[in-house]
Amino acid sequence: MNAEGTTMTGTAANTVTIVPESEIAGLMDAASAFDAVEATFAAMASGDAYNFPVIREAIGHEDALYGFKSGFDRKALALGLKSGGYWPGNEARGLTNHQSTVILFDADTGRVKALVGGNLLTALRTAAASAVSIKHLARPDSKVLGMIGAGHQSAFQMRAACAQRDFEKVVGWNYHPEMLSRLEDTAKELGLPFEAVSLEELGAQADVIITITSSHEAQLMADWVRPGTHIACMGTDTKGKQEVDAALLAKAVVCTDEIAQSTTIGEAQHAVAQNLITAADITEIGAVINGSHAGRTSADQITLFDGTGVGLQDLAVAAKVVDLAREKGVAQSVLF
Ligand code: NAD
Repeated sequence: MNAEGTTMTGTAANTVTIVPESEIAGLMDAASAFDAVEATFAAMASGDAYNFPVIREAIGHEDALYGFKSGFDRKALALGLKSGGYWPGNEARGLTNHQSTVILFDADTGRVKALVGGNLLTALRTAAASAVSIKHLARPDSKVLGMIGAGHQSAFQMRAACAQRDFEKVVGWNYHPEMLSRLEDTAKELGLPFEAVSLEELGAQADVIITITSSHEAQLMADWVRPGTHIACMGTDTKGKQEVDAALLAKAVVCTDEIAQSTTIGEAQHAVAQNLITAADITEIGAVINGSHAGRTSADQITLFDGTGVGLQDLAVAAKVVDLAREKGVAQSVLF
């Protein structure tokens, strides 16, 4: 080894931090995820951070969908990828169907820096994204939260939303009514009354609506939504999925995490295909965070956030977890 710690073959010892899935819950919380995601959206809009094209493939084995989401944040020096996908047979094996792992690289050298469990982080960063949209776009006096969807993500979504406004009640609807108990239990945990309602009634009561389903057709119609409502559409992250009436986007101030994803795999894909809006009508939420776009300008506007999920969100929360694991002395390190 020479004076710089470099061996004759040009390789120096590299410490890789490992944060397994089992450690994430004890390290990361919704507030830290919110700060990381808000800063990431701001960096994207100011040109400091960008996502690379998403890869998602049906691999022809176990009916699995597998892919990568990746990017680089020049400001935070977050470089890496989230890799994983959906294995429908996992539940029968006692495993979660959605599986993901984040790999972070040193932006100065390209050497691998960390390996982080991505399952819980995905739920936290997705809930943080809609919470960021509520902070910046929902009316400050919003009192009723409407939840469409009662799957795994929905509880995370409700908790993160309730940290942004003083909601007094939650109303909910789900395609599979037998799953509504998840929404009721989560509302109870937050000290809020819950009412299961029809979709029309949900639109009539809610000031903020979150959609988080795997629906492939519009559930919420444009005419059912009151002026002044904020809607966070979080379920549509693939071509062909849809949660709300395309006409709703034409009536709304539309913001998104990333415009290219919004028009191709997000909720806006349908409104764009039907020529109801164009990409020019959609604003990056980061521009609202940075103050270069006004966002909501009146109490009777409908605002809509198309949350498609970007790789930079994953890198931001994973980088935060690595810092927390090191701070708390629970990081596992290996020489690589
Ligand atoms: P889940 O499987 O636990 O729940 C699925 C939800 O969709 C349930 O509420 C179910 O009743 C509903 N649903 C199923 N079929 C439906 C149909 N035909 N019509 C209407 N609703 C239907 O899934 P989850 O983990 O809660 O994820 C929900 C959605 O969010 C998925 O589509 C997932 O891909 C998406 N997601 C998006 C992001 C993002 O960043 N935008 C991140 C994670 C998950």
